Amino acid sequence: MLPRSFEYVSPSTIEEAIELLGEYGEKAKLLAGGQSLIPLMKLRLASPQVVIDLNRIPGLSGIRESGNHVTIGSMTRHRDLERSAPLRAHYPLLGDAAAILADPLVRNRGTVGGSLAHADPASDWSTTFLALGAEVDLRGPKGSRRVPLDSFFRDSFSTALAPNELLTEVRLPKPAPHTGSGYAKLKRKTGDFATVAVAASLSVENGVAHHVHLGLGGVAPTPLRATHAEKVLEGKKPESAVLAETAQAAAAEARPTDDLRGSAEYKRAMVAVYTERALTRALERSHGRKS
Ligand SMILES: Cc1cc2nc3c(=O)[nH]c(=O)nc-3n(C[C@H](O)[C@H](O)[C@H](O)COP(=O)(O)OP(=O)(O)OC[C@H]3O[C@@H](n4cnc5c(N)ncnc54)[C@H](O)[C@@H]3O)c2cc1C
Repeated sequence: MLPRSFEYVSPSTIEEAIELLGEYGEKAKLLAGGQSLIPLMKLRLASPQVVIDLNRIPGLSGIRESGNHVTIGSMTRHRDLERSAPLRAHYPLLGDAAAILADPLVRNRGTVGGSLAHADPASDWSTTFLALGAEVDLRGPKGSRRVPLDSFFRDSFSTALAPNELLTEVRLPKPAPHTGSGYAKLKRKTGDFATVAVAASLSVENGVAHHVHLGLGGVAPTPLRATHAEKVLEGKKPESAVLAETAQAAAAEARPTDDLRGSAEYKRAMVAVYTERALTRALERSHGRKS
């Protein structure tokens, strides 16, 4: 199918894009990598009157290290996260995710901001960034506001973004010393969205787990922080019985539904299995780190 006809505009500054959003409101859609928007338009599940292309605005992409943070511009492509030296050094789980997100064609075009703004409950970036304590910067006519990612997702495909705002960047705090992270994704086939995904990050000091963060994907209306499960492990020695208890707590916190990828019961059981895998990977890496 072909999309309904639409007007195409290509602003050259963020301010111009925000002005256009203010002018057209809900009739407009921002275009980033187009990997979710264009298929929706072709299926006529989205029929914006105006498409505002972000691709010619300078300064929206790139990965920068500053002080205690690393920032990722919203127009940074998926493939750039796989290859970035600062990201590989501080957040190895992003490399895990980038290598198995969709396929090379999608990774070359799709963007971090598009992925978060689209708010698919199974998005790999949403799940992994939740485990890294990310915040997002949203820019509108009155300036920028910073929102923790765990309060950004409101419902399936729904976020805290106002119709006249765009997401400009993601901020990741640098991890504490001896931090490790890991990502475990169950999918039906290569290139598929997650049936169940778990991202884990923790630090180990004197044999005790701290800063435990768990992100779950594909098992609730939104990507989810498993905060109760995090508390089960926080401050304890990460022995196998404690990891198993944490995994069961994460499974209890998930809110999966039956769909083509599997029954709710199957997905809940897989949350436990994949939580243990992601935590085990994170623990291995925390021991491997020097600082
Ligand atoms: C075959 C296929 C397989 C895929 N598999 C996976 C997968 O395994 N895992 C995964 O995580 N994803 C997967 N995806 C989705 C892919 O990651 C998309 O790139 C992503 O969801 C959307 O990013 P985009 O840059 O293409 O955004 P677009 O499609 O351009 O936009 C998506 C939505 O976000 C809005 N938007 C875009 N940028 C901004 C911004 N800066 N501020 C505010 N709103 C904005 C748009 O208006 C639109 O509503 C897959 C896609 C395809 C086509």
